[in-house]
Amino acid sequence: MNYTGVREVEVVVVGAGQAGLAAAFHLRRVGFEPDRDFVVLDHSPRPGGAWQFRWPTLTFEKVHGMHALPGMELTGADPLRPSSEVIGAYFERYERTFGLRVHRPVNVMAVREGGGPPPWTDPAGTLGRGRLLVATSEGDYAARALINATGTWDRPFWPRFPGQEMFGGRQLHSSEYRGPEDFRGARIVVVGGGTSAVQQLMEIAPVAAATTWVTRRPPVFREGPFDAERGRAAVALVEERVRQGLPPRSVVSVTGLQMTEAVRRAREGGVLERLPLFARLTPTGVSWDDGRTVEADVILYATGFRAAVDHLAPLHLREPGGGIQMDGTRTLRDPRVHLVGYGPSASTIGANRAGRAAVGDIRRLIAATTSRPVDAATELAGSLAS
Ligand SMILES: Cc1cc2nc3c(=O)[nH]c(=O)nc-3n(C[C@H](O)[C@H](O)[C@H](O)COP(=O)(O)OP(=O)(O)OC[C@H]3O[C@@H](n4cnc5c(N)ncnc54)[C@H](O)[C@@H]3O)c2cc1C
Repeated sequence: MNYTGVREVEVVVVGAGQAGLAAAFHLRRVGFEPDRDFVVLDHSPRPGGAWQFRWPTLTFEKVHGMHALPGMELTGADPLRPSSEVIGAYFERYERTFGLRVHRPVNVMAVREGGGPPPWTDPAGTLGRGRLLVATSEGDYAARALINATGTWDRPFWPRFPGQEMFGGRQLHSSEYRGPEDFRGARIVVVGGGTSAVQQLMEIAPVAAATTWVTRRPPVFREGPFDAERGRAAVALVEERVRQGLPPRSVVSVTGLQMTEAVRRAREGGVLERLPLFARLTPTGVSWDDGRTVEADVILYATGFRAAVDHLAPLHLREPGGGIQMDGTRTLRDPRVHLVGYGPSASTIGANRAGRAAVGDIRRLIAATTSRPVDAATELAGSLAS
């Protein structure tokens, strides 16, 4: 603590999902001590990142390609248990085993330049542009570097349509979906072309009076496994956008939809017959410009999420194209700020790699600006952990 009451640490990690925990693991591996050298802050009530909020019918068998966190496998999980419980319990064990001491619930409201006039004077005066000041619900931190791992769950994307406020039924986002029972006997329009839309539609269709699926673009179903080569191709597409300073597009636009046995059956049964996006909502449903209408009790927007980075706004990281340009995980506009689980690393495997890359980079930054040594033994230990 310094004279302003601001706690000084080397690194603040914001978010304790897959990306934040991977970063915290690597910070420990290279010799940073939790609560002395770094803190992990998360505003959710429990371990699990966004997984803790996912609907109970999203069982563990329905998540595809969940990679374990570095240093501890996820074994023996019951495939029929909700993924929120399986992953919540796994993350809880992980935090305990590696002593990561996540502070929760702690909200990060804003991150700004700490080198301004008092009381935000750079306490150490060692970094040319001063420390980053992280304003949180448990007080302020002054950090030499920030690892932002806040995911997207906190920013569900709601599209706007004419007539939305006149619709007499229920409108909800897929993040509020709790299972098919809420929709028994109702007429539902599902909006969106991603995996959530497909999974929720397939669950709802057997109990609903009617379902209609609308998407902006025709969906692309992908046969065969999502292997490493496909993964690399998808990541390369996102990387290219981020390099140009554009916001990342939806996951499905680069991965396509996985064709499974259940999807095949649903298509044969007509559940996945898709219509183009409607033009407007009416008081009793939706309508298209060609005069077609569909009556509905519920509009379910499975329209995805945006990066939850509003608290970084004071740092002015965005490019004119609306995205944040990055070199690896480091933002081009501020080398102290790393985004992990963002854009090309927004997957469980990407989050693991990004956490490790960010720590390597930050360690070099701190070593270059302070007397903190880069110890070869811990460097080696860090590089051995995937
Ligand atoms: C329905 C669904 C299914 C998915 N299935 C898969 C899958 O099968 N395989 C896969 O690889 N990926 C999947 N993904 C993508 C998956 O979410 C990511 O791969 C990964 O889990 C995201 O981890 P994260 O750490 O980046 O974010 P999150 O898990 O979202 O963690 C972010 C954390 O940051 C915290 N936070 C946010 N803002 C703040 C703030 N201002 N202050 C403090 N704390 C904050 C949140 O509380 C949260 O705990 C899925 C996504 C969805 C929506």
